[in-house]
Amino acid sequence: MIFKGFKTAKNKFKILISLLALGLGLLGSFWYPRSNHEIRAQSASVRFAVIGDYGWAGQPEADVAKLVKSWNPAFIITTGDNNYESGSASTIDRNIGQYYHSFIFPYVGKYGAGASDNRFFPTLGNHDWYTSGAKPYLDYFVLPGNERYYDFTWGPIQFFAIDSDTQEPDGTSSSSIQATWLAGFLSASNAIWKLVYMHHPPYSSGQVGSTSRMQWPYRAWGATAVLAGHDHVYERIVKNGFPYFVNGLGGEERFPFRSTPVSGSQKRYNGDYGAMLVDASYTSITFKFINRNGSVIDTYTINVTSIAGRAPPRRPVTSPPARHAAVSGTIPASAHATDNVGVVGAQFKRLNGMS
Ligand SMILES: [Zn+2]
Repeated sequence: MIFKGFKTAKNKFKILISLLALGLGLLGSFWYPRSNHEIRAQSASVRFAVIGDYGWAGQPEADVAKLVKSWNPAFIITTGDNNYESGSASTIDRNIGQYYHSFIFPYVGKYGAGASDNRFFPTLGNHDWYTSGAKPYLDYFVLPGNERYYDFTWGPIQFFAIDSDTQEPDGTSSSSIQATWLAGFLSASNAIWKLVYMHHPPYSSGQVGSTSRMQWPYRAWGATAVLAGHDHVYERIVKNGFPYFVNGLGGEERFPFRSTPVSGSQKRYNGDYGAMLVDASYTSITFKFINRNGSVIDTYTINVTSIAGRAPPRRPVTSPPARHAAVSGTIPASAHATDNVGVVGAQFKRLNGMS
């Protein structure tokens, strides 16, 4: 009888645990609206480009597009403002497809052939939201998940595209549904590099300045770096070893800098249009800003050098399993930057002459 009682209690316990797990699972699927996750490639290394505030048809955009294509990137991500002036359906193909159709799938515009699979991962900017519901953008692109914020993995990098506009239905505060999604999936990620990108910059020394509502605890949540646009400059800001990039020189007019840079600002440039080239492997990731004449303005590398200190995932990782078995448990622990084009002071001199 004792034995039988024990068995019954054990079974009850098992049922209780199963119900608890089911409850947590249901709660999880409610709390994290959806993973939006898409795995695009398992390659060991990857090269991609970052363009921002680019969607203004004309020579600067054409020059930047030519530069980006010369790198032969696997794909392009954008830091928003893809379609000036008002995100209209009547301008979207002229502002985007004309220059980048070969990266877009499905491409339904008039400028030629699209890609055979999507290689263009934009984020929404305020100008894309100026048309109600950002409908032309959402109609034009086919993106993972809800298309406004989503994630995808390419080789050693997991990307998190964020909608930083205040019209985002799932919010832009650090406790919003969107931020909760980001925190959960960043923490759960086993990717070597976790890049978060959006339009409004958490920190910027440009004339538009920092967007305090986007100053989420990205680093604590497990991100590697944050990339943004909105200010039409290039800037690299490093706060407590965590890099923030502002990259908004993709084609619309260039902006001046404020007289006092934000704390942590390490490189500022607005001398010409350009884009970022990023090369990543399982052991390092290098960010470059290159202007349309091919001059490398800034280089910043993060290396994987230590297995200590990485917080374990807070949620079980269901996909993809053991993607980085060889190097899982590593953290990026050192960074190195080079300033390839003169000193910051020289840039200021040029800026003062310009404005
Ligand atoms: Zn903007």
